[in-house]
Amino acid sequence: MFSLVLWSKLIRFRRFVFNRDLMPSDMPICQETICHSVLGKLGVLNTQFWTSYCFDPYVNCGFNCVYCHTAAQKYDGSKEFLAPIYARTNAPKVLKRELSKFKRKGTLRLSLNTDPYQPAEKKFKITRQLLEVLKDNEWPFAIGTKSDLVLRDLDLIVQASQKAWSCIGITITTLDEKLAKLLEPDAPSPKRRLEAVRRLSNEGITVGVWLIPLMPYVNDTDQNMANVIKAATENGAKFVLTGMLDMRGSYRFKRFLAEHYKQIAPRYEFLYKGKPTAPSCGNMEESYLYDRYSKFISLCQKYKVPNYIPHFYSRKQALLFYIHNFSHFEGTPIFELTQPLNFLFPSKEILQAVQIRYGKRKLGKSALKVLGAFPK
Ligand code: SF4
Repeated sequence: MFSLVLWSKLIRFRRFVFNRDLMPSDMPICQETICHSVLGKLGVLNTQFWTSYCFDPYVNCGFNCVYCHTAAQKYDGSKEFLAPIYARTNAPKVLKRELSKFKRKGTLRLSLNTDPYQPAEKKFKITRQLLEVLKDNEWPFAIGTKSDLVLRDLDLIVQASQKAWSCIGITITTLDEKLAKLLEPDAPSPKRRLEAVRRLSNEGITVGVWLIPLMPYVNDTDQNMANVIKAATENGAKFVLTGMLDMRGSYRFKRFLAEHYKQIAPRYEFLYKGKPTAPSCGNMEESYLYDRYSKFISLCQKYKVPNYIPHFYSRKQALLFYIHNFSHFEGTPIFELTQPLNFLFPSKEILQAVQIRYGKRKLGKSALKVLGAFPK
């Protein structure tokens, strides 16, 4: 075991030394690396797409968003993605091997911490190769991205979708091009992302818009939410979802606030209750949270687009996903498999979510009582 680890480290080091200049000079240095598994262990139930396997074709990301908590966590937010991007070039081979053996079928999400269609994908085409393997094996998949590079693989996505369940989420935090440039300096413009939504939708792909993250006092206004939701529906999005800004390791975001939103920076301390290390909105000021989520839901209802809020992260809390997507995401194998489990263990947060979603009156007092009777 020890020698295996040592061997993989040696290979990494060799690639580090010899492959430093794989990208054009205006892009972050990209190095090839290897992965040992794509599917890994079954059991990561991700509530954004309801996926059971997650894999990042790239380590780190070239889009350089100021709110990126992946970078913040890894580098304490103090570096501007100067850390190299690693391309897991052997991933398609590994996936092929894994799928040839027995694996319990479950949706593979090709994006967990980084963007699978970031600039490096133009050169390495790892995401495309993975899609080819998934298509050949009729395996369900989901993709989350900020890039219209996803259109390069439209043909493949269409073919794969005809064989297995698939879903694509395009992140759009604002339609304001100036603000987008500040928040996501190296990502394609919101206009290009909307165009991607439109073209994917026209091809019959299940595509939605992620209004994520909602950043208090930056893009959380009624107007901004309405603009994004309206544009999403006009361009054929099948769902819209949102979630709050994750303030873990928020060095870069705090610096962004200090530079561009000086007056609101102190309000963050109150909203996040002075605990910027807690995940996402887990410790956020509740009245703010409910107010914004309720507004989001009412706007989605106004524009007649399905919505959900994946702001609860444990397996137990994943019932939220069902509540919001019951009719839209059926057919995912893992969906049916785990459904009874979640109904058996609803948590306090789920009950709150039910109330936000349906309102006490609509759900009915007796239904709430029954849900409340389950163990927390
Ligand atoms: S696209 Fe996602 S992973 Fe990449 S920098 Fe932006 S937030 Fe981070």
